[in-house]
Amino acid sequence: MPVPLSTATAPDASDRATPRRRRSARRRFRRPPSLGALATVLAASVALSGCEAAAPPDDRPVVATTFTVLADMARNVAGDHLRIESITKVGAEIHGYEPTPGDVRVTANADLVLDNGLGLEAWFERFVGELDVPHAVVSDDVDPIPIASDAYAGRPNPHAWMSPVEAQRYVASMVDAFSDLDPANAADFRANGDAYSDEIADVHDELVAGLATLPATQRALVTCEGAFSYLARDGGLEEAYLWPVNAEQQATPGQIAGAIDFVERNDVAAVFCESTVSDSAMRQVVGATGARFGGVLYVDSLSLPGGPVPTYLDLLRHDVRTIVSGLTGSGADR
Ligand SMILES: [Zn+2]
Repeated sequence: MPVPLSTATAPDASDRATPRRRRSARRRFRRPPSLGALATVLAASVALSGCEAAAPPDDRPVVATTFTVLADMARNVAGDHLRIESITKVGAEIHGYEPTPGDVRVTANADLVLDNGLGLEAWFERFVGELDVPHAVVSDDVDPIPIASDAYAGRPNPHAWMSPVEAQRYVASMVDAFSDLDPANAADFRANGDAYSDEIADVHDELVAGLATLPATQRALVTCEGAFSYLARDGGLEEAYLWPVNAEQQATPGQIAGAIDFVERNDVAAVFCESTVSDSAMRQVVGATGARFGGVLYVDSLSLPGGPVPTYLDLLRHDVRTIVSGLTGSGADR
């Protein structure tokens, strides 16, 4: 059973990319300086140390993102030119998140804030509305898929980053936003974005090729959270899930019965559940049908460095490979 990742003191992935500290150049003197020169040196060193005390250790523009997936994508586009921080940490429940005073400080000091939009960060609009920080919505060019059922019916599904196709639109939005923020490095942002998009596109190709032999009658993806509408569209899969958005986290008997019915009607080979929620309800679906448990999928958060999905590309590849191997019969049965 997947254990939800700790939200407590877990270091964020941003800690891996230790900002380069800029050191002031210090002059070396080969022989003792004269008194006059010494006074100049003293004055200079006072000015220098005063300068050092006042200056931040890293003077790159700061970009804050609402969650770890966006932070990793942003780092790939920004290269070394910007300092990227995630407001929520690894493992955080991002749909119903409650910002802390520390989050307010991080965000208020940022030069730009990136949020997913599409209603993902229910907490974010009010939070950022109280702060005087420019922000950009990375899903602005996404073609939204509405949520089909339950209390969220009709609202856009927020999980567009789970599609390699839509993720390339996120990257393009970041290139534009970073170029506005730091025009001198616009060419680098463009080149980084192009190279990164190519890697994301490769995962899309892997998805399509991996599912090519799956019969039309078995092209279905069943998960705990309805986070795969966009990936299912990319892969030509029909989607079913226990609950539409993780904020609920508790499957009702009706939702479990609906999933069992869907699995039986569609001859689904394997079902899946996300890392941040309990898979006990999905285990009931497995127990009641002939489907196997195909494995754990990652959606709303990266893992810590050293974990299974420390980067967004790792997350995407992991999920695509787990889904392909599960649905085509070579998957885990745990
Ligand atoms: Zn989610």
